[in-house]
Amino acid sequence: MDKPAPAAQRTLFERIIAREIPSKVVYEDENYIAIKDIAPKAPIHLLVIPKRVTARVDEITDPLEMGRLWLKATEIAREHAADYRLVVNCGAGGGQMVFHTHIHILAGWKDGPDSDT
Ligand code: 5GP
Repeated sequence: MDKPAPAAQRTLFERIIAREIPSKVVYEDENYIAIKDIAPKAPIHLLVIPKRVTARVDEITDPLEMGRLWLKATEIAREHAADYRLVVNCGAGGGQMVFHTHIHILAGWKDGPDSDT
């Protein structure tokens, strides 16, 4: 079996998937993991991460793969909240900091996303 790539060559989220870096896992199957964001920007802030690595969401070219990712994100979101916001930052100029595709689930505000709580 191939040896895993050195940690420096793997994304932060690959290292989370491999349990080399601890995180709060809320969902996992063979293709996806969902974790709590370490620095939540909303009362509920989850990250849905495909295990197949692409740097950014627009590198996914297969419609089925793209559709499945969004279906999974909505499925996980609805398990945590009735209403929610899904966000994808794409590229540094779009606010992306971790270059392993992920969808943010933001939810749990009392009075909507523009309230403080
Ligand atoms: P991006 O800006 O790339 O769209 O989002 C990356 C997200 O990953 C940020 O919201 C950031 O708080 C989160 N994050 C960064 N490092 C870690 C970590 O080590 N663990 C977890 N759970 N989240 C992280």
